[in-house]
Amino acid sequence: MSDALSLTAAAAAARVRAGDLDPAELWDGYRARAAADGHNAFTWVSDAGAAPPASPGGSSPASPRRDAPLGGVPVAVKDLFATQGVPSQAGSRILEGYRPPYTATAVERLTAAGAPLLAKTNQDEFAMGSSTENSAYGPTTNPWDPTRVPGGSSGGSAAAVAAGSAPWAIGTDTGGSIRQPAALCGIVGLKPTYGAVSRYGMIAFASSLDQAGPFTRDVTDAALLFGAMAGKDKCDSTSVGLPGPVELPRRTDLQGVRLGVPEELSGEGIEPGVLASFTATLDLARELGATVEPCKLPHAPHALSAYYLIAPAEASSNLARYDGVRYGFRADGARDLLHMYTETREQGFGAEVKRRIMLGTYALSSGYYDAYYGRAQKVRTLISRDFDTAWERFDFVVTPTAPSVAFALGAKTDDPLAMYLNDFCTVPMSLAGIPGISIPSGLSEGLPVGFQLAGPAFSENALLDAAHALEGAIGFDSAPWRSA
Ligand code: GLN
Repeated sequence: MSDALSLTAAAAAARVRAGDLDPAELWDGYRARAAADGHNAFTWVSDAGAAPPASPGGSSPASPRRDAPLGGVPVAVKDLFATQGVPSQAGSRILEGYRPPYTATAVERLTAAGAPLLAKTNQDEFAMGSSTENSAYGPTTNPWDPTRVPGGSSGGSAAAVAAGSAPWAIGTDTGGSIRQPAALCGIVGLKPTYGAVSRYGMIAFASSLDQAGPFTRDVTDAALLFGAMAGKDKCDSTSVGLPGPVELPRRTDLQGVRLGVPEELSGEGIEPGVLASFTATLDLARELGATVEPCKLPHAPHALSAYYLIAPAEASSNLARYDGVRYGFRADGARDLLHMYTETREQGFGAEVKRRIMLGTYALSSGYYDAYYGRAQKVRTLISRDFDTAWERFDFVVTPTAPSVAFALGAKTDDPLAMYLNDFCTVPMSLAGIPGISIPSGLSEGLPVGFQLAGPAFSENALLDAAHALEGAIGFDSAPWRSA
């Protein structure tokens, strides 16, 4: 049993397809682990007796068709993906008890490809945060050190995979919420090109930035899971899919690959231990044949400021729908309709969400719109152009994923600006809509450090290939406690 659970998802799926492994063993084993989770990584775990209904891929979750591409390897899904009949609360009290009548396209695709729904994972409320401490359902802790945060906002998905209680998981990234928690938990996280994966059924935060992607133990698993969830969807008019199929990465060298190191994102503000791991990884890249040169993204230092206008502006509009009438929670004892709306929102939203609604409403108000929202959109264009210029000389841009290793629970909860700085290196890619992947590059103070590679829009195959080559050279042990 424990043998099957120590396999990567791709290896487990291959053994199922070859007839060497019963997928029921994976289902039962991971279900037991998820049910016993001690990190508050899950908001709901599938009940053994009440398994979700059969998917087109098989007769039941525990016995999908053996030739399904994902081989019956179960998947954990961030709370904000709508899943039919299953609590989908986006980490918020205002959606308490909400069980959607339909399932998000990304999740449906995974089920159809043979990955049954194992569990829903904890997250910052409406994906606003970098530590999963903004969840109405309590914080998630980091499997490497339970006194520390797992990162966020998809911290539950990252912790579940890092702890081995899920073989793989999906999350969403608006400004860093896949890459940063992957970095802090020592696993792989991919934010795809905007539009590669359907947003249909993802409870919206900032619609022009939100993108779904995989959390996995290695790069091969990331390619396999991403390939199954990507694609154009008639239910999401911003989805475009990918120009071709996602290939499993094979590359073991970086001959001819040109890496640019943006000085704006790889110096000031980055912890010394994180920089040391970053520099060591650049040396490895050179040994593999890559050229590594400094590059400039002159507007990248303004990305956080632009992001904290654009994302709250979109959020203030998206979150207007939570009024106590249509979904989830409604405050008791209201005097009249308006009072019901205001009391529901007062009691249902947490402090960070309220802060964003106020910021966003202000930035969009007449008289301030041009000065704030309009200006931020111009900065966004300049950031995008910086990347376009970089692609003239480089295949990928590389940075540390996060400025620090996992920090202590509570360390940044009283200081929103310190919390926002977590995404200093990931937000520029989000604004530009381009893909980024974080892979573990080593340890600092015994905690994982992430290395980010970002490429042009739709360069996922090349990006995964380069990450695969580096991953092989780094040889990171993503779960030292498993062999201990
Ligand atoms: N930490 C950032 C925020 O709080 C990004 C979150 C995300 O990517 N969902 O907005």
